[in-house]
Amino acid sequence: MTSTMRIARLHEINQPMQIDELPIPDPRPTDVLVQVKACNVVPNLNNVLATYSEWFPYLPLPKLPAVFGLDSAGVVAVGSQVTDVAVGDRVYVNPGISCGGCRACRQGQDQNCDRYTFMGYFSFGADGQQIFDAYPYGGLGEYLTAPQRNLVTLPDSVSFEEAARFGYLGTGYSALRKAGVGPGSTVLIDGISGTLGLGTCLCALALGATRIFGTGRNADLLDDVRAIAPDRIHVLPAGHAELNTWVRQHNDGDGVDAVIDSLGPGAPAESFLDAITTLRRGGVAVDIGGMMERPALDMFSLMCSQISVLGSLWFSTAEAQDMADLAGAGVLDLSVFEHHTFPLDKINEALADLPARHGGFSNFISVP
Ligand SMILES: [Zn+2]
Repeated sequence: MTSTMRIARLHEINQPMQIDELPIPDPRPTDVLVQVKACNVVPNLNNVLATYSEWFPYLPLPKLPAVFGLDSAGVVAVGSQVTDVAVGDRVYVNPGISCGGCRACRQGQDQNCDRYTFMGYFSFGADGQQIFDAYPYGGLGEYLTAPQRNLVTLPDSVSFEEAARFGYLGTGYSALRKAGVGPGSTVLIDGISGTLGLGTCLCALALGATRIFGTGRNADLLDDVRAIAPDRIHVLPAGHAELNTWVRQHNDGDGVDAVIDSLGPGAPAESFLDAITTLRRGGVAVDIGGMMERPALDMFSLMCSQISVLGSLWFSTAEAQDMADLAGAGVLDLSVFEHHTFPLDKINEALADLPARHGGFSNFISVP
């Protein structure tokens, strides 16, 4: 094995990343070294990098120079006191790192850790830099280090490109689990044709939801989503009908069990308020898209109808393993993704000019 690796690093805001040559890191005994085979280039990365200082007060970014790359899959190269994966194992690396010692971490609630941090992206806590210092490598490089407990073992039938999509998929999976979606459930997914929405739809199919309702802006894209399972998926282009009436017309007059709102930060609050009108009594609405506008919730009717509204961030590594196993068993079908790969050396060109997106079907992957 050579002793150095190529890695893309951002040295200055609003400047291209540089491909640097750094020593291959030596993992701590309970960590692993992963040789990266695929890293997702999330559509949002450009926005975050372009507005670095604006994000900082809310979601602290790593000190520069920094390595980005959120969702990585690869092969375990080294792990000296590591017990549950072996050299050569194919893995997805959950980039969500928690401190491991606080009350939330000890309860197995990693995402509730005050230091919860996405290596290769941003943190959710003021002390996130400590985690960036401990795990400084994102997926835009040839190697990264990670705690053993953040690894998801990949079934042979799940490709590295598919696994590099697990972040968006897992976010939908966890939201569906929190909403209690299972066999026979009915779900409305707001923004079903986007990156988060499509992943949520695939997971809802895998979990046994029998009716999935989806909204979106682009009617052609919605038709492509519906074609995945025409007997189970119903789609409505935004503004084509009154949402609550349309859902009940196609759901035996009933409201849905769950709403998963996967519209992005710029979505109007009104769309969320419309979506929750489709819930049955006792239904659960989960936001995963991170709308920034503040919906004026009618707490009186939520109380009377026992409606729950939840925020859900990412997923646990255990949930990601369940999802990987569902994909390995063929229950979760990942074949709809269209992978666009480009070499790490071309990261700046790729970020500046990603190919035209086919909604959430497109999957942009950097290959070191
Ligand atoms: Zn913690």
